[in-house]
Amino acid sequence: MSVALDMNTPDNISKTTSVPVEKSDAQWREELTPEEYRVLRQAGTERPYTGEYWDTHTEGVYQCRACGSQLFTSREKFDSHCGWPSFWAPLAEGTVRYLHDRTMGMDRVEVRCANCDSHLGHVFEGEGYGTPTDQRFCINSVSLRLVTPEES
Ligand SMILES: [Zn+2]
Repeated sequence: MSVALDMNTPDNISKTTSVPVEKSDAQWREELTPEEYRVLRQAGTERPYTGEYWDTHTEGVYQCRACGSQLFTSREKFDSHCGWPSFWAPLAEGTVRYLHDRTMGMDRVEVRCANCDSHLGHVFEGEGYGTPTDQRFCINSVSLRLVTPEES
């Protein structure tokens, strides 16, 4: 399954697109831990090799930590050894949205939850990991919650 990264369409570069789950900043601050808030709502990044899931091989579905939307599965997770959970594709097209990110002096593609617009991480292409898509969705553990088949 490949995901088209057509970043040049107006929809993908707009920061004002409305999403199904919209909450005020105060609400997010109340519902999330300070670290979750920093990453999910302020596009922060957890330190590599510190997150809960970077080296996890447990079978299950990764949900958005902010809204519970199903974003990734263990089937598309692979060992990138970059220090963050890495996936070669989202669970389905349309579960995440893409934004051009030119902060930090880099030209990157930010990945956000399509349901609540929370920051998840970035996607990189053409790194030669040998996965079906040659894409690496580099996602913060703190943006995700793994739900195993026994729990669901
Ligand atoms: Zn979400």
